[in-house]
Amino acid sequence: MKITDVRAYTLACRLPRKMGGAFRNPAGWDSRQALLVRVETNTGLVGWGESFAVPSVGSVIVRDVLKPMLVGQDPLEGEPLWDRLYFGLGYGGVKGAMVEALSGVDIALWDLKGQFLGKSVSQLLAEDLDVPAQHIRRRVDCYATGLYYEPLADLLSEARGYLDEGFRAIKMKIGLGEDEDLCRVRTLREAIGPDVNFKVDANCAYTLAAAREMERRLRPFDVDWFEEPLRVEDLGGYAALKQEREVRIASGEGEYCRWGFDALMPLVDVAQPDVARCGGLTEMVRIVRRAAELGCPIAPHAWTGAVCLAASLHVAAVAPTFEIFEYDRTPSPLRDALTREPFRYSDSMLSVPQGPGLGVELDLDMLLRHTTAVV
Ligand SMILES: [Mg+2]
Repeated sequence: MKITDVRAYTLACRLPRKMGGAFRNPAGWDSRQALLVRVETNTGLVGWGESFAVPSVGSVIVRDVLKPMLVGQDPLEGEPLWDRLYFGLGYGGVKGAMVEALSGVDIALWDLKGQFLGKSVSQLLAEDLDVPAQHIRRRVDCYATGLYYEPLADLLSEARGYLDEGFRAIKMKIGLGEDEDLCRVRTLREAIGPDVNFKVDANCAYTLAAAREMERRLRPFDVDWFEEPLRVEDLGGYAALKQEREVRIASGEGEYCRWGFDALMPLVDVAQPDVARCGGLTEMVRIVRRAAELGCPIAPHAWTGAVCLAASLHVAAVAPTFEIFEYDRTPSPLRDALTREPFRYSDSMLSVPQGPGLGVELDLDMLLRHTTAVV
């Protein structure tokens, strides 16, 4: 089998109403975007991947940098091909949109490999990780991500909605300032009661001094984890927090490749690699293998479209130290309406798609309706 073409699709859709923001975008969003990658072969088989990159940037990297290295290659080659693509992206400091674009391509190659061999991506990943077939999870525990910077009354009804849907774990954005954050945490905890697993996410809002203070003030509210108190680059800050924290610290959605996670994972209590950002499934195998050696819990980050969600579920199905899956519940037709079969959720668990490759069939009419550019 040979690769004959690689295309990048930019998708965008307007939301029915503007959603409240988070620290890195306090004004909120009124649209969602996604970057999908389609890899075609001379067999007629086609693989789809998704990249976390800003679509206008990532699509150019796919077209101008990655595609010339991919056409004519064997899509089943695996790690040696990944290594050539990664080194082809540059000789130093290769992170950001470069690795995000590679992630989209890599996911598409795994989708192709699974289809070609008649195996699901989780079966393929399990073989690489020496996970016995009977240990592959078919459903995974998940938590609801939402509770952005909305007015408190709206947050309370949103949280009640998640509990009505059966979620036993929820996550709220903080980062508005310590006093306001604490007020929201206290109000939410009182409303949801003591039995709900409650996580908070600052999206890198704090200085080290403020993060230390915040961690101390979060302790009475039985917060399960305090996510991204600091920028992921601030390893010294994470090391200092780890010395004194009582609330678990989670981070990693902004980190890239095994080298980044090798440095970060010893400094946090939960690692959150994003398959559409960290280098794709090939690199994720290396990251979750290292996490298993370190005993570091993995809670995959996923905040983009349906292809990323499917790929992330396959990771959750096999990661030896998998803890819980992030199920973004904020409005996004690019996540919920892009596949012919909806993702199956019930009772705080998501089902891992079965069938060859990623196990999802894209609704191409829907996809093309939301496509704003193809390169
Ligand atoms: Mg987060």
